[in-house]
Amino acid sequence: MNTDSELVERLRRAVQRERLLDTAQQLIAVPSRTGEGGAVADRLAELLRGDGFTVERPVAGHINAPAVVVRFAGGKPGRTLQFDGHLDTVFLPFAPPAVADGQLTGSGAADMKSGVAAAVEALRVLRETGALTAGSILFTAHDLHEAPWGLGQQLNALIAEGYVGDAVLLPESMYEHLPLEGRGNATWKATIRRQGEPVHEVMRPANEPNVLAIGAELIARLIDLDRDLSKQIDPLAGRASVFIGQIHGGEIYNQYPQECWLEGTRRWLPGTSPAEVESAFRALVSELADATRTTIEVEWTFIRDAFHLEPNDPLVQAFQRAYTTLGEKPLPLGPKPFVDDGNSFYGIKKIPAITHGPRAGGQHTLNEWVDIDDLVRVAHLYALTAVLYCGESP
Ligand SMILES: [Zn+2]
Repeated sequence: MNTDSELVERLRRAVQRERLLDTAQQLIAVPSRTGEGGAVADRLAELLRGDGFTVERPVAGHINAPAVVVRFAGGKPGRTLQFDGHLDTVFLPFAPPAVADGQLTGSGAADMKSGVAAAVEALRVLRETGALTAGSILFTAHDLHEAPWGLGQQLNALIAEGYVGDAVLLPESMYEHLPLEGRGNATWKATIRRQGEPVHEVMRPANEPNVLAIGAELIARLIDLDRDLSKQIDPLAGRASVFIGQIHGGEIYNQYPQECWLEGTRRWLPGTSPAEVESAFRALVSELADATRTTIEVEWTFIRDAFHLEPNDPLVQAFQRAYTTLGEKPLPLGPKPFVDDGNSFYGIKKIPAITHGPRAGGQHTLNEWVDIDDLVRVAHLYALTAVLYCGESP
């Protein structure tokens, strides 16, 4: 028996399915819409203290729900692997936890309280087996993840305050490929206004700006911009883009409108400066405003920066070695179609991050579910990855 398979068995035996399931249910049982994560963070802290871990509660800019942090060291110096998860759920009616047919359901079952529970179980397993002989684990859990209610502010504060490892595992449900590349994302709203009062169209002053026509011109210019952006392509992440999702203007058919607004997204590739993306957008809009004697107000909401992960990063190597040991082949490499907290770790501090969690579905719906067998697999995988990653000297 080689070291890996002896280690794999030792960790496998230590993962307690019922304990993991109980933790996930306890987290799901506490409602925690984004911004209201105080009670669930308290519950998690209580569970971890009950396990004998020392729990830190940094406020990280969100007094209603201080974050939950645990550090666990193996003894000898080595790398620090961070397990990071969010405890908030989207604004939908609360669904309590339930177990049936090998699945756990309820608010946050898929996104991502079960994943957080799997990370907690991995932490327990590492301590109970003594398998982590070098390096350390930094466990962090926080609120303010789900947009538009949160924009990752609490995680950004944690990162700024130094609650970071050398690499991060994020147990969001993503299990079919290992995401290496993802686009950054901002949303924008442009409101075009003219000076005058609302007026019947037959009485409108000559040369008064037509805000709907200017809205149409803005669309034409954004479509031109999108055509240029389509030349910026990444084989995995796709292409840079500007997208228009809605346009509104006017009240009735024969009133000359005062206001027209448009809303959409702007996505960019790794290596692009988000500040430059924003200033170029603002410049395009203000040029149109100047040319049309209108004001165009831009509300720009930065969501997350672009994401990149080096395929030969030590985290990827340790993860793939662990994944292959538990299954038979490495996880295929692929894109990150959405933005997540891995984008923040990469965008702010260039920290490598892998999003990998259990088979689950129904995220952002009333019917969230997670596969319990796969949740057990993730706890085991996290523990094994940690041993392989942390043991090597940085
Ligand atoms: Zn999530």
